Amino acid sequence: MTAKLIIDNGIVVTMDDDDTMHFGGHVVIEGKSILSMGPGRYTGEVADGDRVIDASDKIVMPGLVDLHYHTAIAKGYSDHLPLWEYLDTCWYPMIRALDPEAAYWAALASYAESIKGGVTTVNDMYRQLQGLARAAEEIGIRAVLSNDVALPEHNLDTLEDNQKAYEDCHGMGDGRIEVYVGIEWLPLASPELLRDARQLANDLKTGIHIHLNESLTEVENSKERFGRRPTEVAYDAGLLGRDCIAAHCVWLSDTEIALMRTTNTQISHNPSSNAKLGNGIARLPEMKAAGLNVGLGHDAAECNNSRDLFQVMKFAAVIHRAARVDASLHPAPEIVRMATRNGSEALQHNGGILATGKNADVILIDTLSPMFTPLRKDDPAHIYSHLTYAANGSCVHTTIIDGRIVMEDRQLTMVDEATIVREANAAFTRVLERIPPVG
Ligand SMILES: [Zn+2]
Repeated sequence: MTAKLIIDNGIVVTMDDDDTMHFGGHVVIEGKSILSMGPGRYTGEVADGDRVIDASDKIVMPGLVDLHYHTAIAKGYSDHLPLWEYLDTCWYPMIRALDPEAAYWAALASYAESIKGGVTTVNDMYRQLQGLARAAEEIGIRAVLSNDVALPEHNLDTLEDNQKAYEDCHGMGDGRIEVYVGIEWLPLASPELLRDARQLANDLKTGIHIHLNESLTEVENSKERFGRRPTEVAYDAGLLGRDCIAAHCVWLSDTEIALMRTTNTQISHNPSSNAKLGNGIARLPEMKAAGLNVGLGHDAAECNNSRDLFQVMKFAAVIHRAARVDASLHPAPEIVRMATRNGSEALQHNGGILATGKNADVILIDTLSPMFTPLRKDDPAHIYSHLTYAANGSCVHTTIIDGRIVMEDRQLTMVDEATIVREANAAFTRVLERIPPVG
């Protein structure tokens, strides 16, 4: 019999359809799934080898899903540039100069920060996926990986690279690691490339990850080159669909929102990246009103400087209120749902909710801190409010992924954090030396 992990006497935020919370409840994990959970203390058997975690003064909730993610090697560079210039002078030169070891250490550093902030799943578009998969396997995170595919003249990845990564890595980590087909963005693609990407995804029976309608310059570029807006081009090429994650979607027309709805395309909203790069504010109220499933992403630490998804939650919660002069928009439970269940559903994972049979991706949050003070422990609205507006990633005490504790008491359990920091710094210096000076 597999040993059980019994989390007892916590504030259990289930994220189920009724937003049920159990105060002083329990969650029992066996293997990779939730065996049972419910209100009240655990009264079942505790066998030899089982571990009981006392969760008094802790919130127990589904792990966060970072729905649009790039492993990052160079945060804190070119902070002042708009998207296109930033890509051309910093991002593309860096990822063209990557070596496999640099990608591996950059991924470990990225995933380490995410896990310490309560993220249990990343939807990571980057290069050198074999190194990323190895990093994800070792550190214990759930990862959906995709390549940075563009037309050949841009010297990034090809669909052949992506297919090879699928063959090498899909299913690693006992199924925890998947490979999707990635498309960088329309300015570096063509309708033919989008059609081929859709064909490859269908052949491999996997999903697609793409940046769409991120900036006004992208929309203008698409209209000039193809006579259509980016999402219209993607629709015409057959790229959109239930298995497609479209990131950003800042500049969607009403017609494009309808195309997303018709095709049931999944959306990653990345408000802090959009704000920092001066790209604008996505039409989240309209996307939600149209019934789109929208999750949250930090994008990349190069254009966000933090992988803290709690920060992204707060941004998503407040930025639309400011822009629309309407404090009723996107209440806290909706924001927490976007960061958990919506992201999991977008990736068609069996998680994002604490219920029997679901993936054991669970985080424990320490409420014994000024950050969570005052706290009425029997008040769901108060819990959601603190999670959305008051919390940050440093409040996460324990991160469990696939039934395994990968961070406890702020310490990573599977890898040595000091080594990762040292090697990621060395990798960054090595890559930096290969490219023209970065501003
Ligand atoms: Zn991105």
